[in-house]
Amino acid sequence: MSRLPIQIKLSDSKKEKPDPQTLVFGRNFTDHMFIADYDEGKGWHSPRIVPYAPVTLDPASIVLHYGQTVFEGLKAYKSEDGTVRLFRPEENMKRMNLSLDRLCMPRIDEEQALHALTQLIQIEKDWIPTLPGTSLYIRPFVIANEAFLGVAPAKKYQFYIILCPVGSYYKEGIHPIKILVENEFVRAVKGGTGGAKTAGNYASGLKAQEAADKKGYSQVLWLDGVERKYVEEVGSMNIFFKINGEVITPAINGSILEGITRKSILQLLRHWNIPVQERKLSMDEIRGAYENGQLEEVFGTGTAAVISPVGELNWDGYKMIVNDNKTGPLSKKLFETLSNIQNGNEKDSFAWILKLNSELAKLA
Ligand SMILES: *Cc1c(COP(=O)(O)O)cnc(C)c1O
Repeated sequence: MSRLPIQIKLSDSKKEKPDPQTLVFGRNFTDHMFIADYDEGKGWHSPRIVPYAPVTLDPASIVLHYGQTVFEGLKAYKSEDGTVRLFRPEENMKRMNLSLDRLCMPRIDEEQALHALTQLIQIEKDWIPTLPGTSLYIRPFVIANEAFLGVAPAKKYQFYIILCPVGSYYKEGIHPIKILVENEFVRAVKGGTGGAKTAGNYASGLKAQEAADKKGYSQVLWLDGVERKYVEEVGSMNIFFKINGEVITPAINGSILEGITRKSILQLLRHWNIPVQERKLSMDEIRGAYENGQLEEVFGTGTAAVISPVGELNWDGYKMIVNDNKTGPLSKKLFETLSNIQNGNEKDSFAWILKLNSELAKLA
C-alpha cells in the first residue's frame, strides 16, 4: 500500500511553552495535531497535520453515546544533544489494532500511523522537555463520528494524535504508593473489553478510584470479575509480585490490558535469569507469603511511571506493608534500567528504541 501524503498546515501563532519544572500530566497540549478520516467504502484518507484546536462533532456521533473509541499512550524522550527517542512505538500501533478489532472499528495501517506520528513529533520537537524524567506524552486515538443513534458499528471514524509535554513522575525520587484491593467493583471480565484500551473501561473504574482516593489510597488493585480472588491489574498499570525470590505477574487472560512496559520488564527479568512466572495469583497466596515473610516486593508497570513500587496493600482492612514501605532493590534496578534505555543513558540491547532523527533520514 502506498503511503498517503500528509497535508501540513502550520499554526500562525505559537503557544508559550510551560515551565518544565512544574509540568503536570495531561494539561498542556502542543501547537499541532494529526487527523485522518475514515469512510466506509473509501478507507482511511485525508491525513493532515493542523493547528491544535477544538473539533466539531455532531451531537449524535456514535462515540458520544455508545463509546466506540480506543486510545494509546506512549512517550518521546529528548536528550541534551537533541536526539529524540521513542520507546517501542510499533508495539502501540499493533495494540491499537487489537483494540480497534475488539470495538468493531477499522484497523489503521501501522506503518502509516507511525510515519504520521514521527512527522508530527518532528514539527513539535521543541516541545519535548529535556529535564531528567520529563518527556512528551503521545496520545493516538480513534473515535466513531458518524451521526447515528442506532447501536451498530459506525461507518465513519477519525484518527487523531495529540501531544503533551509531561513532567517527571518522581520529582522527589522514586517512592512507594499505597494500594487498596477492590472487593466490591470489578474492572473487566473474561469476554469483555478489559484487554482493549477503550474509554468505557476507565469510566467504569472511576467509582472505585474515587472511594480509594477518599481513604488515602492512590490506586485500586482490581481482582478477577468472577471470583474476586485473583489479582488482575492496577488503574493503568500491570502488577508484579516478588515472592521468595520469584517474580509473578498475572497471565494475560482476556480481561487484563497487556502493557508494553510489562512485556519489556518480563524480557529484562528473563535476560537477568531472575525466575518469572505469568500465572494466576490469588490474594490468599499473597497474604500467605506476607505472613511467612516472603512477600519481598510489589510494583506496578506502565508508560506513565515506568515502575511504581507498592509500599502498602490494604485488603479489606488487612494491611500488608511491603519492604518496610521502601523501594525494593529489584524495583529500583528495573526502574533505572528501563528509564536509562528510554533516555539514551544505557545501551539499547533489545532494539526497543526508535531514534527519530534516523527514522526521518530513512524517509528522506
Ligand atoms: C495502558 C495500560 C497499562 C499499561 O500499559 P503500558 O503499555 O505499559 O503503558 C496497563 N493497564 C491498563 C488498564 C492500561 O490502560
